[in-house]
Amino acid sequence: MLRCSICVLDERFSKIELIDGRYICRECLIFIKYPPDYDKMLREVEEVLSREGNNYDCILGLSGGKDSCVALKILVERFRVKPLAVTVDTGFIDEVAMDNCREITDRLGVDWKIVKENFIDIYREAFERFKSPCRKCSRRILSILRLEAVKRGLNVIVSGHELPFGHSAIRLMKGNVKLVRILAPFKMRESEKEKILRELGWIKPELPGYTTNCLVIGPAIVNFYNMHGYNFEIERIAALVRHGLLERKKALKLIEKPKIDEKLIKELEKRGLKLEKFINDLRDSLLCDDDQDN
Ligand SMILES: [Zn+2]
Repeated sequence: MLRCSICVLDERFSKIELIDGRYICRECLIFIKYPPDYDKMLREVEEVLSREGNNYDCILGLSGGKDSCVALKILVERFRVKPLAVTVDTGFIDEVAMDNCREITDRLGVDWKIVKENFIDIYREAFERFKSPCRKCSRRILSILRLEAVKRGLNVIVSGHELPFGHSAIRLMKGNVKLVRILAPFKMRESEKEKILRELGWIKPELPGYTTNCLVIGPAIVNFYNMHGYNFEIERIAALVRHGLLERKKALKLIEKPKIDEKLIKELEKRGLKLEKFINDLRDSLLCDDDQDN
């Protein structure tokens, strides 16, 4: 199977062409032809983020994962605005990620609010239909954050997503609310983020898949993989490589079928997500004792 030599997409996901002896996908060719203007993105973000002098300037969606925690630090220390950090508790956030939210808001002196709303219907449906839960989940989180902003008369929501919306870090939502992907202009590599996180006292949860907060995504990837033969995160991971945010070698590992342990399945069941129907398929991917080296 042909695979792009720049990102990790193979011919199932993109047209792969041979150019000067290298296989390159369509997405990477477009990216090379029309590269993002990171300085322009930064100017746009600077324009939107300003200290108004009243209570809060914006809402920051804090998931406890690495990106939103780095985003909070940049927001406070680089842009010097006053956010309210809001964590939408889906019922399936790792406890370590919750501790990270507490620790980091505390260290940065940021007010923190938790909005509890159980997302089990989205996750259950994803398992039943062998789909990715990510789009529906993030859409619901955004709508909760937007309502929180509107309720407080705020019109900016900041998220820790690192990929821009096409060529901009900002998207306009319903009701004139602006969604700012604050990390997009910074083009920050994993190692830089890790350094910032270490200084913040952030602890990495042990979770399968490319996540540092969500309990569902690893088993959901395995379930999807068993049916479709690939990882539903491949396009996002390929984009991270294309943008120079993730090493290709690491990405090739991340698009493999993750390994999950019995403990995680038990934890999901404890939280109400019964996986008996899928358990044998999922169990194929359980870690063996001699395989727990990472
Ligand atoms: Zn590519």
